[in-house]
Amino acid sequence: MECEVCGAELRGKPFKVIIEGSEVNVCKRCKSLGSEKPVERISQKDVKKVFLRKKSPRKKIEFEEELLENYNLIIKREREKRGWSQEVLAKKIQEKESLIRKIENAEITPETEVIEKLERLFNIKLREKVVEVKVNLNRKSLTPTLGDIVVIKKKKS
Ligand SMILES: [Zn+2]
Repeated sequence: MECEVCGAELRGKPFKVIIEGSEVNVCKRCKSLGSEKPVERISQKDVKKVFLRKKSPRKKIEFEEELLENYNLIIKREREKRGWSQEVLAKKIQEKESLIRKIENAEITPETEVIEKLERLFNIKLREKVVEVKVNLNRKSLTPTLGDIVVIKKKKS
C-alpha cells in the first residue's frame, strides 16, 4: 500500500486522515496534512451518554406479579375452547395430567414456570402486576347496597 498523498510505501498500519472531506490512507509524514477521522469516537460517546441517562437513579416502584383470582377457570376455559382434554394440555406443556387437574381445581398453586408455559400456549395473561398498597381500600363503598338497587328498579318501571 502506498501513501495516497506522496506515494511513499507504507509500512505497518496507514494513518487514516480526512483531507478535503475524503478519507485517505497516508504515511506518518503526510499525517499532519489532514485531520484525524473523528466520526467513530463521537458516535461511541453518544451511545454511552444515552446508556447512562437510562440508568440514572429513579424512585423504584416494586411490582409483583400476582396470579389472577380465577386463573384456574381461565385455564379450563381456554383448554375447553380448543377441545383439548386435560391429558392433551398436559402433553402440550410437558407436564403431568394430574397437575393440570389440580391446577384447574385450584388444589395447588402452579409454579411460575408452569404459568408461563400456559400463558405462552394460550397467548393470555394469568398474572397481573400489582403494587403493594398500604392503604386499606374500603371496597364496600364501591358496590351499591341493596337499597340503592331497589331505588333504581323502581325508577325504571
Ligand atoms: Zn506521504
